[in-house]
Amino acid sequence: MNRFRRNRLSQFASVLLLPAIFSAFSAPSAQAWGPEGHRVIGEIAQMRLLPSVLRKIQDDFNIKNLADVANWADEVKDARRQKSWHYANVDISSDSYERGRDCPDGQCVIEKISVFESVLKDDSASLQERREALKYLVHLAADVHQPLHLGNKEDRGGNEIRVRFEGRQTNLHALWDGELISFEKFRSLPEYAGALNGTVGDGETSAWPLSGTAEWANESRRLALDFAYLVRVSENGELAPEYVSEGRKIVETQLLKAGVRLADLLNRSLK
Ligand SMILES: [Zn+2]
Repeated sequence: MNRFRRNRLSQFASVLLLPAIFSAFSAPSAQAWGPEGHRVIGEIAQMRLLPSVLRKIQDDFNIKNLADVANWADEVKDARRQKSWHYANVDISSDSYERGRDCPDGQCVIEKISVFESVLKDDSASLQERREALKYLVHLAADVHQPLHLGNKEDRGGNEIRVRFEGRQTNLHALWDGELISFEKFRSLPEYAGALNGTVGDGETSAWPLSGTAEWANESRRLALDFAYLVRVSENGELAPEYVSEGRKIVETQLLKAGVRLADLLNRSLK
C-alpha cells in the first residue's frame, strides 16, 4: 500500500487544516528524521533567517536553500563513520543527558552541534570548513529534536521495538523519524513548512529556550520517556489511535521548534 493510500485511510488529521491535495513525496527512510522532516526544518529555518544572514548563506556559502543541504549529513555518515554524531543514548534510568556518562568521547549529537557552531563562527576557519559546519548544523540541530534520538541504548533508540502502524510492521524509531509526519493536506512540503511556521508568534517562541543544546536534548529525552516509549496498542494489534494522533502533534511541534532554534543559531553565528 503506498503512502498516499495509507494517508488517505488514516482517520487522524494533522493539527493544521488546509484543503486536502495530493502529495507527491516518497515514504520516509528509517534514518534520523526522515528526509521530509529534515527538509521541513530547513524550510522553516530559512524563512526565519535575518536578511543579512540569508545573503551570507546564499552568496558566501553558495547554499540557496537550507532544505537542499538538510539531508547531506545522513548521506555521508556511513562512509565517514559518523553515525554516532546523529544521536545520544541516555542511561536508561535517567531523564536527562549527562556528557560524562552518556557522551564521554564527545562523538554524539549534542557535543557535535557545539563543535560545528564554533567552526561556523570562526572567521579564521576556511570557507570550506565553515560551509561544511553549516551543513552539519542544519542536520544535527534537527536530529536532536527527534525524541528517540535521545532514547535508550538497550533498544537502540526504539529501533528494536516493533509496532504495527497502518496495516504494516515498522519499528518505533522509524515511526518517530517520519511515519508520524503527516502533510498530505498540502500541495508541497514548503507549503506545509510555511503553514507550520505561521502557527507561532513571538509569544510562543520566546518560551522555548533558544540556546543550550543540552536543554533541547533533555526536552527530547522527556518526550521519549513520557510519551514515545509508552506505546499504546489497540485490540487489533495496531498502534492505538490516541497514541498516533498525540504523536503527530508532538512531531509537528518538534519540527517547528527545530526550525525556530536552527534559525536562531544561524542568526547568532553569522550576524
Ligand atoms: Zn541524522
